[in-house]
Amino acid sequence: MERTFAIIKPDAVSKKLAGQILARIEAAGFTVVAMRLQHLTKAEAEGFYAVHQARPFFGALTDFMSSGPCVLLCLEAPDAIKQWRALMGATDPAKAEPGTLRKDFGASIDNNATHGSDAPETAAFELGYFFRGLELR
Ligand code: GDP
Repeated sequence: MERTFAIIKPDAVSKKLAGQILARIEAAGFTVVAMRLQHLTKAEAEGFYAVHQARPFFGALTDFMSSGPCVLLCLEAPDAIKQWRALMGATDPAKAEPGTLRKDFGASIDNNATHGSDAPETAAFELGYFFRGLELR
């Protein structure tokens, strides 16, 4: 078993797609270990995406991520990190495979509905950034 960190981003929550996305997550076999609705501050979004600090889209990305509530998730499954990224699809919804969440629910590369950790080290950092140990038992 493996755990990963996922976000249903503010665009999807504001379009009332969170329920549909959660249903797809559960249908794909993930267990929801922890879940919270949270409206991130700009500073919280900047800390989360610190790795992208030097990128030209950092300001727009952190404005967007702090624009409204999102759903923060710890998901568990065999090979969860890879499997969740496969279910999400490519970063740019226009390039995402049919049947993926970003294809079905993302509008553009910056409004792409979901986030997922890309490696075990990032999953550990991201889960610890948003969840307390007691929430991840
Ligand atoms: P992810 O792991 O697939 O989410 O992609 P990255 O970690 O590379 O980028 C983080 C987020 O920044 C993505 O989900 C996009 O929303 C956004 N992003 C990445 N690349 C670009 C870009 O070239 N332009 C814009 N506007 N946003 C981007």
